[in-house]
Amino acid sequence: MKLKRQKHAKRILSFYKTHFNIQAPFQVLLDGTFSQAALRGKININEQLPKYIGPGVKLATTSCVLQELESIGKAVYGALVILKQFPVLPCGHKDRKQPLSANKCLQKMLGKDNPHKYFIATQDRTLTEHAASLPGTPLLFIYMNTVVLDKPSKHCHQVADELARGSVAPAEEQKGTILQLKRSAGLEEPQSKLIRRKKIKGPNPLSCKKSKKVDQKSTHVRKEGRNRHKRNKNKNMGTS
Ligand SMILES: [Zn+2]
Repeated sequence: MKLKRQKHAKRILSFYKTHFNIQAPFQVLLDGTFSQAALRGKININEQLPKYIGPGVKLATTSCVLQELESIGKAVYGALVILKQFPVLPCGHKDRKQPLSANKCLQKMLGKDNPHKYFIATQDRTLTEHAASLPGTPLLFIYMNTVVLDKPSKHCHQVADELARGSVAPAEEQKGTILQLKRSAGLEEPQSKLIRRKKIKGPNPLSCKKSKKVDQKSTHVRKEGRNRHKRNKNKNMGTS
């Protein structure tokens, strides 16, 4: 049974590694609900999590999580003591007059797309749903007194498929490389060709000016010739 569980976790971890480049050491953010459930189930998370998802796991929490437990008091004292043994990651809410709720704080830690590749360990439904909505966010919870690494959500699988097919828009730094590849494959016109074409399209200003001068001269000569002819005609008429 234990081996089956570990194989299951290994398969999920390899999915996250392949599609979202999540690699050991895994950074797990713990909240009060997870700690409380571990206490109830008599699970030593410090021992069990490395056995379950690998020896490189790093457990941590935030000051908002600790303060929330402190504010609740006696009922969650045990959960608070468990969490206090782990490092407290800076969440940026410590100096606020009122700390954020653990739920909001951990959502903020994940950001828009979990760039730090955190795992979330929680029993809180809202936080669970939020983590599931962010592709590449592994989720740990406790079920029947056992830690479980959740299967990636449907949305997570869809995004992984899109990434594998390369249909996701390329990142900014990839665009330059793509352009170079296109050029080397002859799919993109080099810039010099475009410039030459523009030159051909435009009229040559010098040739225009020249032709205008020639035209003016020639019409002037023609006009003068005509007048001279007229004058001669009049002269002839006058003498006769
Ligand atoms: Zn916080």
